[in-house]
Amino acid sequence: MRRWNGWGDEATVVELPSHGEAFLAELIGPGQTLADASLAQVLAKVPASRLPAHPLISQDAEARLRHARGQSLADWLAMRSGEFGVFPDGVAFPESAAQIRQLLAWASQQDLIVIPYGGGTSVAGHINPQASDKPVLTLSLERMGKLIEVDDDSLIATFGPGANGPQVESQLRARGYTLGHFPQSWELSTLGGWVASRSSGQQSLRYGRIEQLFAGGKVETFAGTLAIPSFPASAAGPDLRELLMGSEGRFGIISEVKVRISRLAEQEHFYAVFMPNWQQALAGIRRLAQARVPLSMLRLANASETRTQLALAGHPQQIAWLEKYLALRGARDGKCMLTFGVTGSRTQNGASLKQAKRLLKGFGGVFSGTLLGKKWAENRFRFPYLRHGLWSAGYAVDTLETATDWSNV
Ligand SMILES: Cc1cc2nc3c(=O)[nH]c(=O)nc-3n(C[C@H](O)[C@H](O)[C@H](O)COP(=O)(O)OP(=O)(O)OC[C@H]3O[C@@H](n4cnc5c(N)ncnc54)[C@H](O)[C@@H]3O)c2cc1C
Repeated sequence: MRRWNGWGDEATVVELPSHGEAFLAELIGPGQTLADASLAQVLAKVPASRLPAHPLISQDAEARLRHARGQSLADWLAMRSGEFGVFPDGVAFPESAAQIRQLLAWASQQDLIVIPYGGGTSVAGHINPQASDKPVLTLSLERMGKLIEVDDDSLIATFGPGANGPQVESQLRARGYTLGHFPQSWELSTLGGWVASRSSGQQSLRYGRIEQLFAGGKVETFAGTLAIPSFPASAAGPDLRELLMGSEGRFGIISEVKVRISRLAEQEHFYAVFMPNWQQALAGIRRLAQARVPLSMLRLANASETRTQLALAGHPQQIAWLEKYLALRGARDGKCMLTFGVTGSRTQNGASLKQAKRLLKGFGGVFSGTLLGKKWAENRFRFPYLRHGLWSAGYAVDTLETATDWSNV
């Protein structure tokens, strides 16, 4: 069962390690715990719906509560304190494009505000209803998660918009393919949401961001259906896909998504390299990216993130040994962890690894082997669960992103 006031499945619990709490207390001060509202307390605050009855719409208080907020820090504070703000007046769970059209026609007739809802992992506030005289209908795409067809020649798969990361990958992997799109919210976020929010994945270096993966599809609007064909390229005018990507659902409801898929790679490995300081780390990663070494993932943590990651990694004895080894090799206080991945054939991966290691060594990088990379890969989608362990210890976490040119980093 999904948590109503936090991240992911109730059965998955990621605790903060005991030494992690001491580390945080030293780094940013002692945690301050806040009281959580109970589900019953919040349910009591859900007002009566302003919608007339409709066979496709639930007015159930808990369904409305569960679709009222995303996952930003502001959302988290609202959910935990029980101060949700505005609730949608109803939630619909269409199972086909025809039902979406039916709901939109009715919403137009009733003059409703319609909010498309994918996995509810938005950190930008666009799925949260705002106070308005008009009733709000949230339209959840969770029942439209099927793989509709695969074009094996073009390597294009057509999905329902509500397929979340595990549903996308399991349906493709059964046929020997992958989409390769792995935002950290992968477990819950959906194809339609990725397109509408222009999402970026951890391995976009190999597979491309959603801009490169989104090939076309269908959108249901108040004015009718817009079908965007999957041309590989066009010399004729602007690209209509751009209208949808990042539109946050404001032009309509994406009812079908075509994506460019890849054959599963022969092998994949992740590695960690420690750079002696930020300046060398930055110079090294820039060179690596600009040399177009065929890596699938490239991440750099600054010194305080590196310290925090190592402190919260668990296995304090192993980490102490690693720290000693790194210090002997010149990566001491101020070191920055650079993680990279290679995905492809055995020969190609061998060559990429060699090239990356040689290049980073030139910037003082110390290769730490496969352990940390393996741990990263095992836990990559468990990190958001740590929010709970941190919250119980009195710490709140936010996620944000930005982009800039290398010269401005
Ligand atoms: C812990 C955490 C980690 C994250 N990591 C990443 C990351 O690595 N990369 C990244 O890019 N983002 C990340 N995000 C942000 C978020 O997960 C992405 O924006 C994601 O793409 C949202 O997808 P969703 O299915 O949850 O959409 P929702 O949150 O449900 O909706 C997002 C937006 O898309 C619209 N929408 C959803 N479905 C449709 C549809 N079918 N038709 C039209 N509009 C629709 C909604 O109205 C809303 O405006 C993260 C968020 C969290 C909380």
